[in-house]
Amino acid sequence: MSIDRRPSVQVCIGPIRVGGGAPVVVQSMTNTDTADIPATTRQVQALARAGSELVRLTVNTAEAAAAVAPIRDRLAALGVNVPLIGDFHFNGHKLLREHPECAQALAKYRINPGNVGRGSKRDPQFAEMIEIACRQQKPVRIGVNWGSLDPEVLTRLMDENSASAQPMDAQHVMREAVVQSALSSAARALELGLPATRIILSAKVSGVQDLIAIYRDLARRCDYPLHLGLTEAGMGSKGIVASTAGMAVLLQQGIGDTIRVSLTPEPDGDRTQEVIVAQEILQTMGLRAFTPQVAACPGCGRTTSTFFQELAQGIQSYLRESMPKWRAEYAGVEEMRVAVMGCVVNGPGESKHANIGISLPGTGERPVAPVYEDGQKTVTLKGERIAEEFQHLVEQYVARRYTRRVSP
Ligand code: SF4
Repeated sequence: MSIDRRPSVQVCIGPIRVGGGAPVVVQSMTNTDTADIPATTRQVQALARAGSELVRLTVNTAEAAAAVAPIRDRLAALGVNVPLIGDFHFNGHKLLREHPECAQALAKYRINPGNVGRGSKRDPQFAEMIEIACRQQKPVRIGVNWGSLDPEVLTRLMDENSASAQPMDAQHVMREAVVQSALSSAARALELGLPATRIILSAKVSGVQDLIAIYRDLARRCDYPLHLGLTEAGMGSKGIVASTAGMAVLLQQGIGDTIRVSLTPEPDGDRTQEVIVAQEILQTMGLRAFTPQVAACPGCGRTTSTFFQELAQGIQSYLRESMPKWRAEYAGVEEMRVAVMGCVVNGPGESKHANIGISLPGTGERPVAPVYEDGQKTVTLKGERIAEEFQHLVEQYVARRYTRRVSP
């Protein structure tokens, strides 16, 4: 079943198209000090290599702003041309004004209307950022976050609500304030001359039900492309499950044109995990294909050795490591399905449904592993080198099955 995407305006961020029927774009954000040019360059390179199609950087100080153009240049020298997005809060107007090379090097600005400035400073500072975006011909994401919701919008709505005959509960008022903050800021940007083709909206919250309700409402009330993500999703499985639960419901309804999975990394953890999770959400839902998928059974009392887990993990890692090379050489390889199954119960059947699959011997079974390619049993592996031999068969299958790209 294909998913009907919500119609929206299309925004171009460098060569990347967002909305307007373009495939859902994966993005990520660095957690290095942007002023540390070597570290930030390394991390952007790693995120781009993992498949991030846009990378956002914090631009919070003069040093960070001054580092953006050198980072862009170093990346270009490494052959990495991923568009960079600047994340601005509080002093963005000043940094963009005083660092025109930063304003030029960035492919998009993220503006949080709740953190643009307080009181009488808010409107002129917001206007200055939009005017710079207009001059530089850059798109803007108006990114509302309920942790920094514009207090004036919230106070006004709370007052209106308490004066109404049928007041809503506080949670509904908060949701409406998030939506109104995004829509009214976009309307102000339009008045200031930013075309609708350069506006993306986001409204991030940390509760899954709030996220779903707010984005459904936003999708109904505007046709800007929507950046989807759960903020403060958390660490490990909690963050992955919460992000997936919220985003999958919306993506299934065609809502969401670019996604970011905001995972809190483990200390010294790998930042690229958020890219892999985002890709897996999209691929699992059938929205995009990035890497061959491994169907592996969970194992049970019939797989009492660790050999089966090690093979499944080894094949998954091997496929990921091989993908940059394969993607460049073979058309369609990212759609390949590989099965690694633990025993004779479901192994042969699942393996036949995959492009290539192996059914390992369960405890007490004969120590042989039949391999299936396109539904047909082709060979039976045995002995100590089953893992290596199966990888070799996958490599041969890819070379035989997928059309080699013609070099430009
Ligand atoms: S395929 Fe075999 S090993 Fe895997 S879960 Fe099913 S019964 Fe257990």
